[in-house]
Order: sequence, then C-alpha cells, then structure tokens
Amino acid sequence: SIRVEGISKVYGDLNVLEPLSFSVQPGQLVALLGPSGCGKSTLLSMVAGLTPASGGRCRLSGRTMMVFQQDGLLPWRRIRKNVELGLEYRGLPRKERSTRAAQALTRVGLTGFESYFPGQLSGGMRQRAALARALVMDPDILLMDEPFGALDAITRMRMQQDLLTLWEEEGKTILLVTHDVDEALILADRILVLAPRPGRITLDTPVLLDRPREPGSGAYAELRH
Ligand code: ATP
Ligand code: MG
Repeated sequence: SIRVEGISKVYGDLNVLEPLSFSVQPGQLVALLGPSGCGKSTLLSMVAGLTPASGGRCRLSGRTMMVFQQDGLLPWRRIRKNVELGLEYRGLPRKERSTRAAQALTRVGLTGFESYFPGQLSGGMRQRAALARALVMDPDILLMDEPFGALDAITRMRMQQDLLTLWEEEGKTILLVTHDVDEALILADRILVLAPRPGRITLDTPVLLDRPREPGSGAYAELRH
C-alpha cells in the first residue's frame, strides 16, 4: 500500500504542491490525472523517495519501482544490461541476472533485442525496456509516470492491455500518472485529479464503469479494433 500524509513541495518561491494526503490500497490501480505542470511528476518522485518533500511524508509497504516519463535507459549499456542494473545493485549472481532479465524482456515482447543498445530501438520499444527494467525487480508497487505518453495509438493500446494483464495476474499496486482521461477510465480502479497552482487533489473517485477487462472481450475488444 501507499500512504501519502500531508506531502507538499515548494521550489524556491514556487508553491508546487499544497499538503495533500491519500492512500492506495494493495492491488489498486489508481490514475493520477492533471494538466501539464500541476506537479504530477513531482508528487510521484516524492512518493518514490527520489525527490525530498518540503513537508509531510509517504509510507510504502512493499518493494517499489518507478517508471519514468523519459525511459531513462543508459544509452551505453545494452538492453539486457540496462534491465539487469537493479539486480546488479542487489548483488545477484550473473546467471540469475541474465535469466531474470530474459524473462522480463519476454514479458514486454522484446525477446531477441537483448544485445541492442537503446538508441537502436524505437521509442515504444525503449518504453517497453524501461518497463522490463522495473518488472525484473518484482515490485509490489509500480509508480508509472506517463509511461505510454510518447507512443503511437496502437502501441499504446497494446501496452495498456499488457499492463492490465500484469495487474490482473499479479495484483500489483499501481499509481499511474497520465494526461489521458480515456487511459485513466480504461485502466484505473480509481481516479485522482490534481489541479494546478498550487497542486491539490480536487477529485478522488472510484471508476464505476462495469466493463469487461479481459483482453479480447467487450469494451476492450472495441478498443483494439
Ligand atoms: P507534465 O504533465 O508536463 O509532466 P507535471 O504535472 O509532471 O507536468 P512537474 O514536472 O511535477 O509537473 O512540475 C510541476 C511544477 O514544478 C512546474 O511548475 C515545474 O516548473 C516545477 N518544477 C519541477 N521540478 C523542478 C525543479 N527541479 N526546480 C524548480 N522547479 C521545478
Ligand atoms: Mg510530468
């Protein structure tokens, strides 16, 4: 679970986020919507513990990985080596690293691209590699900052579908930042809306659409065609 308690952010004179609080229950997929510049990335980064908060705190229970707005791959490392990075930090033996990296890459449909450099992949493939780099750590909590924003419509739908499958099969807790209202409606259990200047939550609502979520059925099938 994620518990955000009165977290706020000030950059110099700029009051970016007012103290705000919310919780995400284990297994929930919550979308955080809001216009550009309202503080979504700042909030996510504070939740991840990468940006210090000006006030308040955040408690995470479970292993947490963040997928960034830019893919953040290291251009000089091959894809497999990028995916293995976190496992290296954890001190896993080489053989296990490579097995797990291969599994994660298969999961995002990048089998066969292990020895490519990031610059040799398309933007969508790089986003997939970035997702594999998070998944390889087997996180309980995934923080995703517009992971599909830069993708074409078809690739985006495919990745949204993959994310849903992942979420349904493994019950991960996911906080997903997006600009895209449709994406939030398709994917999320619950939507938080962040309004700007200063950032504050103006809406926190469950998504009550009773739609089938299995790929290939109902509303989802419509989406795919
Ligand atoms: P987008 O949808 O475009 O990604 P966002 O909601 O993620 O926007 P943030 O990146 O969190 O917005 O930025 C929120 C505000 O904080 C912006 O006004 C930005 O200029 C400011 N800001 C972000 N990082 C810094 C920083 N390191 N120093 C100063 N100001 C910053
Ligand atoms: Mg952002």
